[in-house]
Amino acid sequence: MSTDYKLLGLKAGLEIHQQLDTSKLFCNCPSVLRDDAPDAIVKRRLTAVAGETGEVDIAALHETSRKAAFNYEIYHNTTCLVELDDEPPHPVNPEALRIAMEVALLLNAKPVQEIQVMRKTVVDGSNTSGFQRTALVARNGHIQMRSGKVRIATVCLEEDSAKIISQDRQHGMVTYRLDRLGIPLIEIATEPDIHTPEQAKEVAEYLGMVLRSTGKVKRGLGTIRQDVNISIEKGARVEIKGVQDLRSIPKVIEKEAERQLSLLKQNQKPKSEVRKANPDNTTSFLRPMPGAARMYPETDVPPVPVTKEYLMRIKLPKLLTDKLSELAAEYGLSEALAKEIIARNVSLEEYKALFPNIAPAYVAQILIEVPKDIKARLKADTGKLVHEDFLKVFRHLNDGEITKEAVPEILVELAKGHKLDISKYKSVPDEELKKEIDRLKKEKPDLSSQAYMGLIMSKFRGKVSGKKVMEMLQG
Ligand SMILES: [Zn+2]
Repeated sequence: MSTDYKLLGLKAGLEIHQQLDTSKLFCNCPSVLRDDAPDAIVKRRLTAVAGETGEVDIAALHETSRKAAFNYEIYHNTTCLVELDDEPPHPVNPEALRIAMEVALLLNAKPVQEIQVMRKTVVDGSNTSGFQRTALVARNGHIQMRSGKVRIATVCLEEDSAKIISQDRQHGMVTYRLDRLGIPLIEIATEPDIHTPEQAKEVAEYLGMVLRSTGKVKRGLGTIRQDVNISIEKGARVEIKGVQDLRSIPKVIEKEAERQLSLLKQNQKPKSEVRKANPDNTTSFLRPMPGAARMYPETDVPPVPVTKEYLMRIKLPKLLTDKLSELAAEYGLSEALAKEIIARNVSLEEYKALFPNIAPAYVAQILIEVPKDIKARLKADTGKLVHEDFLKVFRHLNDGEITKEAVPEILVELAKGHKLDISKYKSVPDEELKKEIDRLKKEKPDLSSQAYMGLIMSKFRGKVSGKKVMEMLQG
């Protein structure tokens, strides 16, 4: 399927939200997410009030029509009265601000003269105060991609919202946990300069690389969230929230362009609205497009002047792409492999911590090469293979339950959508292997080591390590 996106008049922009690995933005609480039971629950009710202009925001109205009440789960030692909105916010976390400024400068954006924290109305209860605090750090940047120049509209520093835990629609009760509320987020918004799905991926990868170059961003699922705004000619501007995986961005754009196109073909005008990304890369209606965000100055937080001296003190980190040779040398990777590892936002450091018994170079090879092989073998997409599958397989390998030889075999099965039956791949115990070698040597005494090796490997396909068989044959 080759859609001519130029002809379609596709325009897309990205908005990337990245959590920082610092303490919270407006208090000293650590930015830790917790799975254990909360220490207490606080109940609150929230209603939309008219803003200073006397109008009620259309999105706000949509929310309060549900008459929601909210429960907030708190922890005594990792959340405080600031998250509960019972104490005014502290001054902006200077470390978070410095990192946001580094990112802004790396994106060629112009810093504002003064950081002024603003309040943006939020009425779904995900902010205890009823608004999200956000500050413009810089604007009018640009990045140069292979596919052209993409302008960076703004770089902001803002607080993350509370995480939804459960929703009781019958009683209009929503429960949030306050651990995530206040974690600093860098928000990068591009202008709608993206014209093909592939270009969107290139831009998202580049921005992810710049963010990680600071060495102070959180990693893992949910720590980076991507919104995409899309329009096609004669269509409507649609905002898609919460694309979790970078690799999904091109698919989400393709499907949204298709959706708008098919509406136009039925003589229906697509509506300008906010939609949410589904796991299968389709989208579903979330809410009407909010009016232009009404923002009011946050009077509890003093503005921070951005002086020449302040900017001079900022030492820009080296971009990861410029550290290619260092990465290659550290883990013994080919330069091509190191390049792909950086482009895919893979942190080998993280894998090393998770799987101490597996060489990072092997992890890199599996993550990059196997999906390519599978694509060639299955003559299709890597199918049902998701990141969690790789983690599962690495865990079995790390624990010595399977051999390296089994890893690609298992991944192919998973890519076909088959259920993983690990018993099929469990390593053959040493005694059994030794028995088989002795039996073979007795039965066919004149074969070469290579020939024995071949027979054993084909008998125990994927269940023995070639290295071990060789050792046993020689020993
Ligand atoms: Zn706090």
